[in-house]
Parts: sequence; structure tokens; C-alpha cells
Amino acid sequence: MRDRLLLIDLSNPDALHELLRSAFGFAGFRVNQEEVCRAAIAGRDLLLVMPTGAGKSLCYQLPAIARGGTALVISPLISLMEDQAAKLTAVGLRVGRIHSGLERGAARQICAEYLRGDLQFLFIAPERLRVSGFPAMLAKQKLALVAIDEAHCISQWGHEFRPDYRMLGQYLPALRGSQDPAPVIALTATATPRVQADILAQLGMIDPLKFIHGFRRSNLAIEVVEVSIPARAGVICRLLADPARRPAIVYATSRKQSESLAAELSSRIPAAAYHAGLDAETRDRVQRAFQAGKLEAVVATIAFGMGIDKANIRTVIHAGLPATLEGYYQEIGRAGRDGALSRTYLMHSYADQRTHDFFLNRDYPPVENLKQVFVALGEQPQPVEELRAASDLAEEEFDKALEKLEIHGGARVDFGGIVTKGASGWQKTYTIQALHRTEQFEKVVAFADSSACRMSQLVRHFGDVKDASRPCGICDVCDPEGAVLRRFRYATPAEQNIVRAMVDELRPVNYIAAGTLQRKLDLVGRISRNEFEALLDAMARARLIEIEESSFEKNGEVLRFRKVMLSDAGFNLRPAPYCRSARSEPNPPRKNQPVRIRIRRSGHPLLKLLRRSFASGEPPKRNVSAFRRTWSCTTAHCKRLRGRGRQIPRSYS
Ligand SMILES: [Zn+2]
Repeated sequence: MRDRLLLIDLSNPDALHELLRSAFGFAGFRVNQEEVCRAAIAGRDLLLVMPTGAGKSLCYQLPAIARGGTALVISPLISLMEDQAAKLTAVGLRVGRIHSGLERGAARQICAEYLRGDLQFLFIAPERLRVSGFPAMLAKQKLALVAIDEAHCISQWGHEFRPDYRMLGQYLPALRGSQDPAPVIALTATATPRVQADILAQLGMIDPLKFIHGFRRSNLAIEVVEVSIPARAGVICRLLADPARRPAIVYATSRKQSESLAAELSSRIPAAAYHAGLDAETRDRVQRAFQAGKLEAVVATIAFGMGIDKANIRTVIHAGLPATLEGYYQEIGRAGRDGALSRTYLMHSYADQRTHDFFLNRDYPPVENLKQVFVALGEQPQPVEELRAASDLAEEEFDKALEKLEIHGGARVDFGGIVTKGASGWQKTYTIQALHRTEQFEKVVAFADSSACRMSQLVRHFGDVKDASRPCGICDVCDPEGAVLRRFRYATPAEQNIVRAMVDELRPVNYIAAGTLQRKLDLVGRISRNEFEALLDAMARARLIEIEESSFEKNGEVLRFRKVMLSDAGFNLRPAPYCRSARSEPNPPRKNQPVRIRIRRSGHPLLKLLRRSFASGEPPKRNVSAFRRTWSCTTAHCKRLRGRGRQIPRSYS
């Protein structure tokens, strides 16, 4: 029998802290934990998206103890399960786990303990629910809560989709009970808004709360820099020659690149390659040597870092564009776990996009290839070799097409290599997945090209909109002077004149499309589109403007454009009476060189007037004679402020 039943009185603010102390020995909560715990104890369904290492697990463990009874924890990996169970057992909690690595007798023993109510936590793998009788056995006990770890595995948009996870939703109602249902807590370290919505829907969560926290890493300075592929090895070697920038992880895009970079680096510092093509023993040796500090740099493909618990990594370098922002975030997140300032570098060039197109075509071949194989499948099972020989496709193409058909249900291949025709609905899910992969990479490219704060963009990508508006202050966009690889120069007088002309053009309107702006200023043919875009980026870095990616539809085609809007600081820039001269004699900036613009901080008198008026609650007066264009400026500015959610009475404009 249970010897203690801890039920928390939520009205007593000290009770939860006391439980935290007595159960786990912690003096206090980490950021955001208390709010989540209180919601879970109160019985709310919730989705918690928090990065690894931010204290996610406590958010179901403490509520489980507080609610009393057994918490059912569903976890996809035996190693994760064992790790959590060991930690809970170490603080004196009663934990059972059932997974495929366990002998039958031991599993039966745990079931008996569960039915006696002896367990506070029961860990199971999702596939266990398919064992007949098992869900019914679980439902005999009233659960404290159901926690679903690594919940992104539920979503087909997630990068680690597990079909068994998708079945969870159908078992949950019985497990939760009908009377006062046990709350469901879904936890993950990586879920974009789309994956979040999918998790909520698939689990049938009841009036769920979403907590998306902790994605901002305030000690990571992110730098994105254009470096041609052949130049990258040299840049990386020079960068890591400074001992203060080590230990470091370099992420390579292929095994070949990983080998060659490691060879080049190891002539100067202790470095090694790490990729899936190496045998397990070598990988293990590299990992241990890095952990122990014998290696100062590892050049890895994505397979590296899962088991790494090294707090003092000072630098993470991406020697090419990653495939997804989720993966990128996890990889740069391995730097600076000790809280000290660490720098991350993402190197890219147009050639990276071609490489990715190649990978994408290889991993997601044209639908026609799949159709060809599907049509060739008869009602009678056939050996793979026969089909392959009869096909017009090359051997590799055929194998890839068959593999994809199998994943999406269009074919079944048994262990003997005999193929049977599957269902015909494969094309829909295949197309969706291929498109999704393309979209994910487009987001990476947009991230690299963008001139908005890097950390804010990542925070927004994970859906933490509340936290996304705050610039980090240390990335290459927020602090161009602090950038290590990116070099900036001051704008020439001619460029400054163009900037003033742009600001004046933007002043009376809400936004102008970048292309229109260039035409309006009569700059087409005088400076190239690239040079014009470089100026826009420089203005965004100087916070004179904000740039937003946008699109519209014309004749069924989606056309993308960049919306250019004046910021408060841009509005603040003194109007230029001499901007016309900039149009006649622009001095084109040198190619491929980022431009920095120094802002003159002289306040625009109209803006001062506006601010004073808003502060006093008075609308700005209409008879401000000193400015001719004032009123239209005021109207546009009011509109802009409203657009950003500021409360401004209608009468002001
Ligand atoms: Zn920033």
C-alpha cells in the first residue's frame, strides 16, 4: 500500500515550495517551472515546449507527486527512460518501467506493483500499448497524470515521427478515466507551431494550455556569414587557432567534408572527425576524448552531440547550411551550457542551396518514379530483383522509389524481399512530406538572408511570440561591430544620401515593396539589386527600417516580396533637403561588402511632439506649421504604431 499520499493545497503558496524541497531537495523553482506545475496540479491538460536542459521533467514529476497516485510516463527511448527512472529512484521515489529490454518476469512484477498502487511513476514505451490487455490493465488504476515525453514524435511534421506515438490518442480516454480525467502533459524540446497544433489535435487534449519557454539563450552570439565553400577550411582554422575559442564543434554537411576539415584542423590543434560512416568503437573513442578534453575540436555530421555533456564548448561552427532550423538550434545549443559567452558561426553561400537541392532530389525523388514502380506492382507478390530488372529506372532510383512507396503504404516488402502492392493513397502523404522538407530548408535560407536579430528569429520560429520582439544585442545583426567574421565598413557619403532619400520616401507611407522603392528612387541601373539589398540590410541593422517577407497571388502564382517599413529610429532621422543629389550621383558600394550605417540620433521634432502628446493624452495639434508633410507623416506613424499593437485613439489620425 502507498505509505504516503501527498495532496497539495494550492491556496497555500508555500506548500508547493515545501514539496519541491522535500521531494527533490531543490531550494527553488527555475524560470517558468512553477507556473507549469501549478496548472498541472490543478488538472489542466498542457503542452510544454522547453529546450533540453531547461528543467522540463520536473514539470510533470512534481505535479505527479502532488496529485498522488501513479503517473504514467510514455517515453520513446529506453535510454531516456532508464535515465529518468534512475534519477527519480535516487531521490527515494518508487519507480517502475516496462520496455523491450526487460525480462517477462520482471515486467509482470512491475504490473503487480502498479496494481497494488505501490508505484509513483510507471515508464512505458508507446508500442507497449499495442500488447493486448495492457491498456485495460493500466485503466484499472486511477492515474495521477499521463506524461508524454518527446511528444514531437506524434507529429508527421516532426523530424522523428513514430507511428506508435500517433496511436496514443485512441488509448488516452480510457487511461485518463471518465470521472475527473487525469491530465495529459505533453513535453518536447522541439516543436514548431505546426507540430504543436498537431500534438494537441492528435492527443485530443481538453482545453489545453500551451507553455513555450526558454528558447532564448542569452549567452550565444550568433553570426551568419557568407563564405565560399573552398574558403571555409582556412577560415575555420584561423578562427580556432585562438585557444579562447575552444573547445569547439564544427558541423559538416557530409562525411567527406568532415574528414577533410578534421585533417586540416588536426595539423594545428587536437581535432578528429565524427560521422555515421565510422565504426562504433572509433565514434565512442572520439566522443570520450572530446568529453575528457583530449580533443579540442570535433568535425561532425549531425550524428554528434546527443550524448555530449560538456558545459564549456565555446564555439559551434556550421560549415554549410543545415537542413532545418530545429536541427540548427539544437546544434548551436550545445555551446555555452556553462552560461559563459560563446559564439556560433553559420557559413553559407549560394552553392549550399544547390547541394541541398541535390540531397532533396535524392531523398525525395519525383512522384513519376514512384508511380512507375507502383504501376509495375501486380496483385501477385513478386521478388524485388525481378521488378528492379524490369524497371526503366536506374538501380539506385528504383530502390529509393520503392523505399518511399513502402513508407507511404504503396508497397509492402517482406523479409524475403517479396513485394506486394499496397494502398493507392500513398501519393498524398508523400507529396506533403516532400513539400514540407522543401519548406523547412527555405526557412533556413530565409534565416541566413534575413536582417533581423538572429536569436529573436529562432525564438519566434519555436512559437514563443511573446519573447521574440526583444533583440539579443550580441548577434551579427544587433552588434555588427562585435562580429568576428563579418566585416563592416561605414557607408560612403553617396550611400548615406541614398539612405536619407529612402527614409524620406518611406516616411509618409506604411510600407513600400523593396523593388518599388528602388524604382521610385530612380536607382535601377545605377546600383545593382544586390547592392540595393545590401543597403537595405545595413539600414535594418542600423534599426532605421524593418523588413518583412511577404507574398501575394497573381494569376494563380505566389509572388514574394520584401516589405520595407520605417522604424521609430528611421522616423527620427532628420529629413534630407538634399536627397535629390543622391539620385543623380550615387556612388555604388563595392561588391559583396556589407555596409554599416551610422545613425545620427538627432530627434525628429515631429516625433518629439508626438511622444509628448501621447504622454499627456492630448492629440497632436494639426497646425504645426514648421513641417509641410507633417500631417501625413503623423497619420502614417499612428497607423504603424497601431499595427504594432499600441493603443492610440482613432481621433489622433
Ligand atoms: Zn540579435
